[in-house]
Amino acid sequence: MDQLAIENFQEYLRIPTVHPDINYEPCVKFLEKQAESLGLPCVIHYCKPKNPIIIITWIGNEPSSPSILLNSHMDVVPVFADKWKYKPFDAHIDENGNIYARGSQDMKCVGIQYLEAVRRLKFHNVTLKRTIHVSFVPDEEVGGVLGMDEFVRTDLFRKLNVGFALDEGIASPNDVFRVFYGERTIWQFKLHCPGQTGHGALLLDNTAGEKVRYLIDKFSDFRAEEKKKLETNASLTIGDVTTVNITTLKGGVQTNVIPEEFIIGVDTRIPVTVNLNEWESTISNWCKESGRDVWIEFVRKHPATPVTKLDATNIYWTSFQSTLKDLGLSMKLEIFPAGTDSRFLRELGIPAIGFSPINNTPILLHDHNEFLNSNIFLRGIEIYCKLLTKIANI
Ligand SMILES: [Zn+2]
Repeated sequence: MDQLAIENFQEYLRIPTVHPDINYEPCVKFLEKQAESLGLPCVIHYCKPKNPIIIITWIGNEPSSPSILLNSHMDVVPVFADKWKYKPFDAHIDENGNIYARGSQDMKCVGIQYLEAVRRLKFHNVTLKRTIHVSFVPDEEVGGVLGMDEFVRTDLFRKLNVGFALDEGIASPNDVFRVFYGERTIWQFKLHCPGQTGHGALLLDNTAGEKVRYLIDKFSDFRAEEKKKLETNASLTIGDVTTVNITTLKGGVQTNVIPEEFIIGVDTRIPVTVNLNEWESTISNWCKESGRDVWIEFVRKHPATPVTKLDATNIYWTSFQSTLKDLGLSMKLEIFPAGTDSRFLRELGIPAIGFSPINNTPILLHDHNEFLNSNIFLRGIEIYCKLLTKIANI
């Protein structure tokens, strides 16, 4: 069974579901084959053309109880193949049992671990009270607009009657597993700085460059403060501070012409403790102070999403927590530093936990030479077996 799990993982990793313009059809075929081997029904739904959502369902003994959704995304981010030790879509296993491939951590491992856990439970004739839906979605790595964002608005999704969801986490370099119960809010925007154009030999007033300088100073000073906060307080993680990065700079025609506009692109991630209205007025004030006619064009402006409650009112959480404790695994609760599909579920009030059972592994998501050790991968299947037995029997 271990061998089969690893072979399935490798086969899935070899499907290059890499952005942009992904062809998901080989993935659909692969997952249909998996469902068939598990003796489970499989539904393929297209919210948007070419962007399938695959749901493999294991009906519980009490099908009217709220179900458990095990979500993963099929897409992966691009690679710089020449920087890799092994080809990124070969799923090569080295002498230490490390499986190298794009998606080995983020997050094809988790998708296969869900299925292999179901396979083991079924093999041991375990039955569960609650129905389990294993979902495979597209488009997560570029915002989920063609995937989960659309899917949660469909009748099909409502009919799944999801009570609790598991989704991706991040690897942990030490023994402690990372468990995510919320996400920072993503705001990305362009600051348009128009100004007086003219000859580059003059000292004109109201130039675009001066406005850019003011804004970059403000955002950089703020960034430095947040960085200091993070570095001087060991209890904080990146998910607890506001990150600010200048990501694009555009404008200008030639070096002796003062441009009529510069545009600064900014990526900000805002922790759940920050009031979004206050953050917005801070940004607008900086724009006003920087000079005349500066304006903000939002690229992404997510609303604040509530975090998943971690108290006795959340029976799924208490059972998740006690399972990890029974297994003798230690965990750290965190706010996810980036965005995942969990936010679309939390927006609907569905409790969702981000958890990838990957410890003692360098964090290599989106990096060169992404790998996962086969023993860690197999251990993860065991962890899901225990989690599902507990959570789906509440
Ligand atoms: Zn991911």
